[in-house]
Amino acid sequence: MNIKQETKILIVEDEPYLLRQIRDLLTRKGYIAETASSRAETVSRILNEDDISLYLLDVWLPDGDGFGLCSMIRTKNLRPVIFLTACDDEESVVRGLETGGDDYVVKPFRTAELLARIRANLRRKDDRTAATVWRCGDIRADLDANEVYKGEEKLNLSAVEYKLLLALMENGERIVRRETLMEYLWDRWDQEIEDNTLSVTISRLRRKIGAEYIETIRGFGYRLKGPVGKALA
Ligand code: CA
Repeated sequence: MNIKQETKILIVEDEPYLLRQIRDLLTRKGYIAETASSRAETVSRILNEDDISLYLLDVWLPDGDGFGLCSMIRTKNLRPVIFLTACDDEESVVRGLETGGDDYVVKPFRTAELLARIRANLRRKDDRTAATVWRCGDIRADLDANEVYKGEEKLNLSAVEYKLLLALMENGERIVRRETLMEYLWDRWDQEIEDNTLSVTISRLRRKIGAEYIETIRGFGYRLKGPVGKALA
């Protein structure tokens, strides 16, 4: 894969030596490597910078943890998040993936492994973006034509229902938080108004594609049932 000049990676790590090591490694490989060493600094970068292609998140920071940061990233975008976790910390791995993380690398890691994970996650993202037909069970979304089919039948989805379906499909079988969906669908998160609107939109989509396709994770969000296949038309 050609590394595009604009592939910017944000490295969040409070151990200065490790931070420098990763930054130098990524810079040598042609990435633009940005760094942050505290939760506070990372929050401001997440909120203010839209051109970060991938996030490397340390789980434990002096002023907070990486899980909350990952949830915050997910309210902004769906770009890859890789957690840097301490050895054998299985609980962290699980929690990291539940908050919307894509992958994890256990410290200490080999540079080759870290680079391979970064490339794989960036590529997966590229593949997802390039694929024009997404399938889950009987449901087929044609991204070029903006059409959705169930079997042979063309479904009549509203723009917001279509966007919601793609957001769920984009995440495969991963849980998507309600906050993430609301931010994505309406560009903001206003609990009072949007909470109910999201529930209504979910039930409309369920009626059209089949209730069995969308699972509710109480107090958290939604998940598509069944794997999503993505291919070129
Ligand atoms: Ca740490």
